[in-house]
Amino acid sequence: MTAPPPETRSDNDADAKASAAGILADLDALRGADLPVYGGRTLAYVYDAGLGPETADLAERAYAAMAGVNGLDMTAFPSVVALENDVVGTTARLLGGGPDTAGTFTSGGTESCLLAVLTAREHARATRGVTDPQLVLPVTAHAAFRKAAHLFGLDVVDIPVDPETFTPDPDAMAAAITDRTALVVVSAPSYPHGVLDPVAAVAGHAAARGVLCHVDACIGGWLLGHARRLPGSAIPDFGLAVPGVTSLSVDLHKYAYTPKGASVVLFRDAELRRHGYFASASWPGYPVVNATLQGTKSAGPLAAAWAVLRHIGDAGYADLADRTLRTAAELRAGIAAIPGLRILGEPVGSLLAVASADPAVDVFVVADCLRAHGWYIQPQPGVGGLPRTVHLTVTAAAAGKTAGLLDALAAAVAEARTLGPAEADPGLVEAAALIDPAALTAAESAAILELAGLGGGGAMPERMAPVLALLEQLPAALAERLLPDVIGGLFRLP
Ligand SMILES: *Cc1c(COP(=O)(O)O)cnc(C)c1O
Repeated sequence: MTAPPPETRSDNDADAKASAAGILADLDALRGADLPVYGGRTLAYVYDAGLGPETADLAERAYAAMAGVNGLDMTAFPSVVALENDVVGTTARLLGGGPDTAGTFTSGGTESCLLAVLTAREHARATRGVTDPQLVLPVTAHAAFRKAAHLFGLDVVDIPVDPETFTPDPDAMAAAITDRTALVVVSAPSYPHGVLDPVAAVAGHAAARGVLCHVDACIGGWLLGHARRLPGSAIPDFGLAVPGVTSLSVDLHKYAYTPKGASVVLFRDAELRRHGYFASASWPGYPVVNATLQGTKSAGPLAAAWAVLRHIGDAGYADLADRTLRTAAELRAGIAAIPGLRILGEPVGSLLAVASADPAVDVFVVADCLRAHGWYIQPQPGVGGLPRTVHLTVTAAAAGKTAGLLDALAAAVAEARTLGPAEADPGLVEAAALIDPAALTAAESAAILELAGLGGGGAMPERMAPVLALLEQLPAALAERLLPDVIGGLFRLP
């Protein structure tokens, strides 16, 4: 952070406990319980290019230099416009944008997806008179779209995916389009299974019906965009150049390896994009124009993203993409060779979904065991008839470390086989099926969480497999009623 002038410092400095060194030591101590952000052993949530401290240091310094700048008012802070146009321009060039493409820098993938849906809803209302909008999605689309539908009042139309390929049938998506459809969504790739949806076919159907089509390339767009430029790449185009694609989201804080709080949503042109802007001249304060959901927003994430994109550059990203894809391929082959595990579908890039190939091996138990070996992989409950899986987000930092991970994984599978599968208590599942989530009181919720092993004031159990096995068996509406109470138990006054 930019240091304030000395005279504005608070008197707290006089207190030894609040010295800068002491505060930072406290932060370090708190971080001790976290998963590591760097080093490639955390295969979810964090993205490490493996480029060492120099890149991270540059990002932190750029972030600090701009942290206090407010992106709310671009007339007061024109640096924000220059940085954003540069970052959005680089992103548009990578992903098939043309001279008309318009974009917005956002705080993350969720905000990019929310803006795509909000823009489509407003566009459908303004141009087609749609007042009761629908959102057509493969079931594998990121939950951010369900959040958008929830917040903005759209009905989700779920399209199942093929149980072998984990992609939707484009004809089924086309058949789901109605006069109420505001937006059709495909993923490039999907988060749960890392497979590429049939972008061109779905976008073509949407265009033929005069409906907008969004490509959610939040996780894969940056990596796959660079990978497509590598010699011999067979990755099909999924970007804005594909006919019918009208918007696209891509996170920079994933495979562009920039600090968190950085994503871009692109639109085919500024005329489409403006439908998602919010303006107010109806209050006695400053005239409001917000391109995003935020009001005041730090320019820190934007400046850090701008710095990292320039520092790594096209050649650097091509190299990182190459290294990441090779590492993912090594892991894929290695995992397929471990008895009891199988890879789902044909993952296109750096995400692997691993399921059990043996009833004695529960992948949730494998994830718990692997964590004890110092590696984190992410459990994904099976819903809608899809198998339960563990998810690996492979980053460039995992290059050269596949042997260690594969050894640990084989050991974890052996341990999981000995421990046996995590089973939900059948009595609890049966009782849960009779509960009306809407009528559940706070006390009843607390009692259920106690039975599920999540009592005790929000502390998380060491082994998550039994909790996840139960969660998977609960009706979604009940799980969605209970989960906020689990997390609410963590966030309370000290
Ligand atoms: C990560 C992700 C999102 C949401 O992004 P956040 O940055 O976590 O808000 C949306 N779609 C896909 C496919 C993702 O992987």
